[in-house]
Amino acid sequence: MKAANRLHSVRRRLDEAARAHGRDPSEVRLVAVSKEKPAEAIREAYAAGQRDFGENYVQEMLRKREALAELADLRFHLIGHLQRNKAKLAITTAVVVHSVDSTRLARELGRRAAETPIVPERAFPIRGKTDHRLVVLVEVNIAAESQKSGCPAGELGDVLDAVDAEPSLQLAGLMTVPPYTDDPRDSLPHFQALAELRERHGGAHRLPELSMGMSHDFEHAIAAGATIVRIGQLIFGPRG
Ligand SMILES: *Cc1c(COP(=O)(O)O)cnc(C)c1O
Repeated sequence: MKAANRLHSVRRRLDEAARAHGRDPSEVRLVAVSKEKPAEAIREAYAAGQRDFGENYVQEMLRKREALAELADLRFHLIGHLQRNKAKLAITTAVVVHSVDSTRLARELGRRAAETPIVPERAFPIRGKTDHRLVVLVEVNIAAESQKSGCPAGELGDVLDAVDAEPSLQLAGLMTVPPYTDDPRDSLPHFQALAELRERHGGAHRLPELSMGMSHDFEHAIAAGATIVRIGQLIFGPRG
């Protein structure tokens, strides 16, 4: 099956999952995760209407941006761990960063984003509106796994405040990657825990977006309130 067909079938499943849980399908946005896949795969999905793409590595994202320079309204989301010394480079290209996990990274991104306003054609709408600020999600290490990125739940308040304090950043919500297991139902309590953390830190008014759910578990994420799902293999085929 071609990427365009896979994309349509994923979109159908997202819509069905949303309706099954009494939600409006337009509340669930799809980021197509194109890591390890060639620029041509992105071009094919773009031709089928997809605009949001997720990448884990800064250099790989920059290479693809260059190869696809003529697709002016294509949006790259950085979903992988970001080192502070790559923040400046990352936001020449990414318009959404899903992986802010420390006050120091928030400050560095704020400083750099002030020098790099988002151009309107590439801006990712939050609450139906766009502006020149970099859209930021705070990543939470929801199951407190030892080698995983994301801030501990106990530090979330401080990281959120650090993002809020930067005029060039738009705090949009929370992101998580639960522990991998063979049974996708195991992800559900972790997704629910992220939704509860949101309630404790200002609710949907302050944090409208919940970025959670991947190829194997996105239906459970939608059940728990995901507004952004990040799906790679179901659209682009298996990796490596
Ligand atoms: C790779 C990745 C995804 C997509 O995973 P799939 O299994 O390909 O759907 C989503 N989020 C993050 C943070 C990832 O690293």
